[in-house]
Amino acid sequence: MQQGEFKELTRKRILVTGGAGFIGSHLCELLLARGAEVLCVDNYFTGTREHVRALMDHPRFELLRHDITFPLYVEVDEIYNLACPASPIHYQFDPVQTTKTCVHGSINVLGLAKRVKARILQASTSEVYGDPEEHPQTEGYWGRVNPIGTRSCYDEGKRCAETLFFDYHRQHKVEIKVARIFNTYGPRMHPNDGRVVSNFILQALQGKPITIYGDGSQTRSFCYVDDLVDGLLRLMHSPADFTGPVNMGNPVECTVLELAEAIVRLTNSRSAIERKPLPTDDPRRRRPDIALARERLGWEPTTDLNHGLARTVAYFETLLRERTIEGAAP
Ligand code: NAD
Ligand code: UDP
Repeated sequence: MQQGEFKELTRKRILVTGGAGFIGSHLCELLLARGAEVLCVDNYFTGTREHVRALMDHPRFELLRHDITFPLYVEVDEIYNLACPASPIHYQFDPVQTTKTCVHGSINVLGLAKRVKARILQASTSEVYGDPEEHPQTEGYWGRVNPIGTRSCYDEGKRCAETLFFDYHRQHKVEIKVARIFNTYGPRMHPNDGRVVSNFILQALQGKPITIYGDGSQTRSFCYVDDLVDGLLRLMHSPADFTGPVNMGNPVECTVLELAEAIVRLTNSRSAIERKPLPTDDPRRRRPDIALARERLGWEPTTDLNHGLARTVAYFETLLRERTIEGAAP
């Protein structure tokens, strides 16, 4: 995207819900760097003030503790709705609150967007595809989701949020954007959420065995957080008739074993590999089809895995040095 396309952000008041979370804090930084006024709203369920501490003294940054399941009355020009715990450990901790955040939260922020005529972007997820029969998944695929399982609070919550976004768009002419985000990693990801990238890095740095579930031949595609937030900005500023949903993630697939080897190499770790049983329903492959994002947004990830992992390793090294994490990595 050309530099000039962001000029319009100067003087814009932008609300980021979930702004003290992993992705949200990077988004706040990018928006400030582009000249926007940023109102970061978070209830600190999985996010922390620590993630935005460096922004606290910024004259265009404001932080507000608020739970989006309650209405919010502010005046803004754009809204990024990221509030929602993202990892199974966290969203299953209080599943009713997860559904409320997705559904009541969306109704509240959509109502706000309607009142102040703000454009609004929803951070949706690849989980709306559930346990898919199609690989890779395109946006036209409707998904295969269990409505009553332990993941349903998140999967169905996010699906209902998409429904609400499209109904507010059709019924109330709210300008919406829906991004379906795939596995994202980088500094400030949660150390204790059991995800493969944070687990492996912490295990490698602490000299603990690297826990590979199954034979490690299953694949995932990991998108570095800087690439993702760039994509979210492009989507927000795409033409009004482009609502999405649009997949956002890295189409480069890598096996879990390759990921472990890359992390061991980068950390010069002496950790051994330890095999553990593959969790039930663990998908064999996950890779986004990002043809639509390429075509409509001119977007694709540019950070290669080794580069992104090196920056993430540096972040976790600092966390361990400062001993700000307890009991990290099983
Ligand atoms: P995160 O848990 O770090 O961030 C979510 C933030 O929302 C946290 O700061 C949390 O405290 C806040 N929050 C939760 N419920 C809230 C509520 N009711 N009111 C106000 N704030 C609330 O997760 P993340 O990885 O940064 O994810 C951000 C968004 O992106 C989420 O909506 C998630 O579903 C979506 N997403 C993330 C990924 C990923 O790989 N990280 C993949 C797909 C979708
Ligand atoms: N995984 C692993 N060891 C771990 C954590 C995860 O081998 O310590 C595997 C997991 O079984 C899955 C992949 O890594 O095949 C990605 O898991 P994650 O929970 O990070 O994401 P998701 O399965 O939601 O894509």
